[in-house]
Amino acid sequence: MNAVNDSRQNFYAGLQQGLEGLREQGLFKPERVLATRQGAEVLSEDGRKLVNMCANNYLGLAGEAWVAQAAAKALDQYGYGLSSVRFICGTQTIHKQLEAALAKFLGTEDCILYAAAFDANGGVFEPLFDENDAIISDALNHASIIDGVRLCKAERFRYQHNNMADLEVQLQAAAGKRNKIIVTDGVFSMDGTVAQLDKICDLADKYQALVMIDECHATGFMGRTGRGTHEHHDVMGRIDIITGTLGKALGGAMGGFTAAKKEVIEMLRQRSRPYLFSNTLAPSICGASLAVLNKLSQTTELRDRLHANTSYFRRELGKLGFVIKPGMHPVVPVMLYDAQLAQKYAQRMYELGILLTGFSYPVVPMGQARVRVQVSASHSLEQLDRALHAFKQAGQELGIPKKPEV
Ligand SMILES: *Cc1c(COP(=O)(O)O)cnc(C)c1O
Repeated sequence: MNAVNDSRQNFYAGLQQGLEGLREQGLFKPERVLATRQGAEVLSEDGRKLVNMCANNYLGLAGEAWVAQAAAKALDQYGYGLSSVRFICGTQTIHKQLEAALAKFLGTEDCILYAAAFDANGGVFEPLFDENDAIISDALNHASIIDGVRLCKAERFRYQHNNMADLEVQLQAAAGKRNKIIVTDGVFSMDGTVAQLDKICDLADKYQALVMIDECHATGFMGRTGRGTHEHHDVMGRIDIITGTLGKALGGAMGGFTAAKKEVIEMLRQRSRPYLFSNTLAPSICGASLAVLNKLSQTTELRDRLHANTSYFRRELGKLGFVIKPGMHPVVPVMLYDAQLAQKYAQRMYELGILLTGFSYPVVPMGQARVRVQVSASHSLEQLDRALHAFKQAGQELGIPKKPEV
């Protein structure tokens, strides 16, 4: 092999250069290594005790013993895995039970499981819509929705984020199409913004469009009984398709789902590629998810505690002079505006025993850098106070940004 002329050599050199570029621009994402199970408090690999304020563990279930025990019971009864896709020999009673329980919880006719919500979104559009149809998508929708839309031949219309006037313009632009579907995240994870589903459903009625929501940051705790953003906005029964994850509030392992009318789900079982060509969900995850849904249907205690913790944290952080994106969601974006400051802030907080993440361009718009806090039902007041204290100290050391003049 002649290394100099070998184009494979160039391939690897190109990758090295690309990675170096990411590092130089401060865009390289290192991975924090935890030595414990997920929870309100974790130990880092080097033995540092940290209050965890950046997990999607909204209800605190990821590290709960009773959830793991429910998984262990299913593991015992149904085994480790199926070595099959669903339609060959990968469907057990527990998969059907979970699909029925999810449909009931969400208020839909039926439900289909996937290995991840990324797959649910990736496989939902192509079997249901074609070039005669229109998909009208919020500009800030999750990457998996964007990829799913790309795999489908329908014409894409994009409306400005959360902008109902522009949504209406796009609905008018799509007027000639056969089927129209409006697609939005129920809650947007960078800002904690809640989609205006009441207005979206009214516009959908006016223009005879279907509505799809991605409930990954909502299922289990949004709305009076935790059903999701559709309950929060009182539009249960007016949403055509709901996608969501088992990997966040509902226990944190992995797995996703699509919930909708029977004929939608039946068609997805026939045609959705990530369902047809990927392995069935492990039965232990089904067992734990069933136990979680059962608990959440009996009591709103966890959801209530999450919202109480969130109000407390938002209020106290505001008192310290931080600029927080207003709202009610447990995603609390603390605005620092400057990318380097956001990095430094997250690092200083880590030293002070608080785990959180800084986000800057291109994940959020230029000049909108921030650290994002995610409150959990499992945070004790003492842990929240520890985080607030660290925020104050780091704020004094690094300077708390005031809202910039506009
Ligand atoms: C996390 C997330 C997903 C992906 O969920 P997985 O089950 O982890 O694949 C999809 N959509 C949104 C809005 C998310 O936040």
